[in-house]
Amino acid sequence: TPALQVEGLAYAYPDGTQALFGVDLRVDPGERVAVLGPNGAGKTTLVMHLNGVLQAGAGSISVAGLPVSKANLKEIRRRVGVVFQDPDDQLFMPTVGEDVAFGPANFGVTGAALESAVASALNAVGMAHLTDKSPLHLSFGQRRRVAVATVLACDPEIMVLDEPSANLEPIARRELAEVLLSLDRTMLMVTHDLPYALQLCPRSILIDGGVIVADGPTEKILADT
Ligand code: ADP
Ligand code: ADP
Repeated sequence: TPALQVEGLAYAYPDGTQALFGVDLRVDPGERVAVLGPNGAGKTTLVMHLNGVLQAGAGSISVAGLPVSKANLKEIRRRVGVVFQDPDDQLFMPTVGEDVAFGPANFGVTGAALESAVASALNAVGMAHLTDKSPLHLSFGQRRRVAVATVLACDPEIMVLDEPSANLEPIARRELAEVLLSLDRTMLMVTHDLPYALQLCPRSILIDGGVIVADGPTEKILADT
């Protein structure tokens, strides 16, 4: 079963702007795929369909075999974890540990299973030692890693990252790359940072004008564009 299967996805915004025209995409479990393309290409619109924020005008999407539909929305939101560009959109609790517990608790995880989900997510991003700190006391790079942990703790089938390297200084940027490379997780990464795409994602798709205009090894996509 593919981690993600998108077939014939088309979408127009309520004002009539046609943002996607027949997108087909299959991502296998464990793949890391960069989503590249100019501003206005349709990258955000595509990603907002994956977790059901937008409903497809035409076509279908399934995540690990489960169709994205209104009826499945809660399970789809667990299966597709989105790390937003601004970590401060994701962190709002008094402590790091509580922020990371929030998602799985919301999906019904309790007790020892919850503690273990939080601990393993924070370990995976190298932030376990800061569990009891306030996110307000962390650096921007640390907050972004906690934001990754909030998503990991829900054990998603697919992790979607929106511009993960944006606004990071070089050391934090490299630390995050190491963390992401160490995760055994299907990832879609929307990015303008081509070196990051090359380092992290064996495969890239290039979106332009609401269609996928190239799909293949990142090295080849970058050489051709
Ligand atoms: P990208 O993420 O690649 O920059 P978007 O998915 O944000 O591209 O945008 C794709 C197209 O849809 C663009 O033409 C954009 O202007 C348009 N668009 C995005 N959001 C809206 C919206 N809320 N209403 C109308 N048009 C939108
Ligand atoms: P990103 O940089 O993540 O691709 P964008 O800059 O394309 O995001 O869009 C930022 C926000 O503005 C999104 O919520 C998008 O839906 C909205 N937006 C983009 N284009 C339009 C548009 N033409 N009309 C209304 N909203 C838009």
